[in-house]
Amino acid sequence: MTPSHEARAVHDAAISIDLHADTPKFMSRGYDVRKRHSPPWPISNFGGHVDLPRMREGGLAAQFFGMWTFPLPQRGCARDVHRQLDALEAAAAEVPDQLKLATRAEEVRAAHAAGARVGLRGIEGGHALEGKLEELEKFARRGVRYLGLLHFSANQLGYPQKGYGRDDSQGLTSFGCEVVDACSQFGVLVDLAHVNRRGFFDAVARKPGPLLVSHTGVLGAHVHWRNIDDEQIRAVADSGGVVGIIFAPAFVGGHLESVVDHLLHVIQVAGEEAVAIGSDWDGFVRPCQGLAHAGELPNLTEALLRRGLLPEAVHRLLGGNVLRVLESFPPAGA
Ligand SMILES: [Zn+2]
Repeated sequence: MTPSHEARAVHDAAISIDLHADTPKFMSRGYDVRKRHSPPWPISNFGGHVDLPRMREGGLAAQFFGMWTFPLPQRGCARDVHRQLDALEAAAAEVPDQLKLATRAEEVRAAHAAGARVGLRGIEGGHALEGKLEELEKFARRGVRYLGLLHFSANQLGYPQKGYGRDDSQGLTSFGCEVVDACSQFGVLVDLAHVNRRGFFDAVARKPGPLLVSHTGVLGAHVHWRNIDDEQIRAVADSGGVVGIIFAPAFVGGHLESVVDHLLHVIQVAGEEAVAIGSDWDGFVRPCQGLAHAGELPNLTEALLRRGLLPEAVHRLLGGNVLRVLESFPPAGA
C-alpha cells in the first residue's frame, strides 16, 4: 500500500499527533526508540510499532506516550511511571535533534519546524497515583499532560468499562472526583478512555477543561463494549476536547476502512473539531492492516481523502485539533 503523491503532500502538510501509544513501558525495559524495528509475528501483534525512524517515514510529528502500570500491587505504580518518564527523558537527551519532549502547543510547532519528532506524555490508569494527589502534582511537574482515570481494573478513582472489579452501578469515587478537580488545577487533561459510563459522566459534570478520550472506538460505527456512544462523543466535543480513534481491529470491527468509519462518525455526530487519532500502538493489541506501525500513517490520509474529507479537515483530524486542545489548556504555571 503506497499513498498517492497528492495524499502524501496533504499528509506532510499536517502536524500529526497520535494521542496514545504505550511505547515507554517497553523503553523502560530496553526498547530503543531511536532504532527502526521490524518485529516478527507474533510479537508485532503486541508491540514494536513506534520508533523515531518510522515516525519520520510516517510523517508523525508527535506521539503522546501513554505510561501504564500493572495495578497490583499498587505500591510501586508511581515509581514505575517515573521509570518510564526517565526512559523517555534519556532517549530525548541522547538524540536532542531527533526527539524533543514537549508540554505546550508552541513547543510542538517549534520542534516540528526544526525537523524533530515530539514526545508528549500521558498516564493510563489512576492507580499510578497510589491514592495520593501529590503524585499527580509530581507527574504534572515532569511534563505529564493527561491522566487516564481508569485502565482494565477498578482503582481508587472509579470503575472500568470492563475488567477486574467492574461495577456499572458505580461512578467515580470521592477520590476520583478530587483527582479530576486537581487535574484542572495542575493543567493535566482528563482522559476518559477505559472509564465506565457513569464515571465518564461524573467527570464530565465536574468540567475539568477539555476532555480527551485518547483511544477508543465508537458504538455508532461498531458495537463493542470498548466503544463510546454518541452522547459521550457530544459531551467531549462540548468540553472543547477530542475523541481519538483507536487502530485496533478488535474494537473498530475491521481494518483501515473501519478506522475511517469511526473517524467519520465522530465528525458526523460532533463536527470536525472533535476528532483525533489514538492508535494504541505498542498497547498489546494487534493494529489493523495498513496502519500496522507509525510508518504507515499516510495510508490513513489517503483513505480519508478517498472518502471525501477535505485536506483542511484531514489536517484537523491528524493533529490540528489536539494542538488546539493543548493551546487552550496549558500546563499550570505556564
Ligand atoms: Zn488502553
